[in-house]
Amino acid sequence: MCATCGCGGDSAGLITIPHEHLPGAEHDHGHAHHDHDHDHAHGADHVHLPVTDTISLEQKVLAKNDLLAQKNRAWLEARDMLAINMTSSPGAGKTTLLVRTIQELAGVPVAVIEGDQETLLDAERIMATGCKVAQINTGAGCHLDATMTRRALDLLDPAPGSLLFIENVGNLVCPALFDLGEYGKVVVISVTEGADKPLKYPHMFSVASLVLVNKIDLLPYVDFDLDRFTGYARQVNPAVEILAVSATTGAGVTQWYDWLSAHRSQDVKRP
Ligand code: MG
Ligand code: ZN
Repeated sequence: MCATCGCGGDSAGLITIPHEHLPGAEHDHGHAHHDHDHDHAHGADHVHLPVTDTISLEQKVLAKNDLLAQKNRAWLEARDMLAINMTSSPGAGKTTLLVRTIQELAGVPVAVIEGDQETLLDAERIMATGCKVAQINTGAGCHLDATMTRRALDLLDPAPGSLLFIENVGNLVCPALFDLGEYGKVVVISVTEGADKPLKYPHMFSVASLVLVNKIDLLPYVDFDLDRFTGYARQVNPAVEILAVSATTGAGVTQWYDWLSAHRSQDVKRP
């Protein structure tokens, strides 16, 4: 995982609330909430471990993350917020799906945390809907963690009862290991990818509550067998729910909204 791929260190995410600029315009970051003097202060607890001690380093990073994630979860639940951790490969259509979802779930307070290595591009697309959004730029890092999530929540301060989407960095590997404090993970896969993704990335599919198969409008043009995909996904996660959608045409998205509202009311009912 990330201790070996280079991003297992502590959270150094750069978190920005985008300004109301036109997408693509030059940004004056003078007013942004940058916070990158952070990692030296907090990184010390594992940076000096022997590099040969990879397994215990990974365990230590994950144990620390899990502890913070539990705090995030308690904080979110106390405010009746349903937090969904959205994961996928790059380009599966997470942001497009979120834009449509926010627009069509009118009346539901929504806040979004966007994770990307660089740029504010996705946050700007979300901001154009009028929704509260924070962008975390992970630099070399390939996943979000609980500390970055905590800091983004502090900046965003979503209204109690909000639906919170956390769009993870496009990567089907280590985001599976890092709990952010979410209610559930939703994996988005597009039909332009291989139907064998669940077998190649079993960790991600095994921790998913829901899989959204996106871009089904492209099914006539690609070699993607939905039944085969469903079989593989159930092989690694027998309980996983699977919905076929198109974020561009809107096909199937009602089932996704129903899934959200069912889980939202369950979440709110919790003692
Ligand atoms: Mg995106
Ligand atoms: Zn990573």
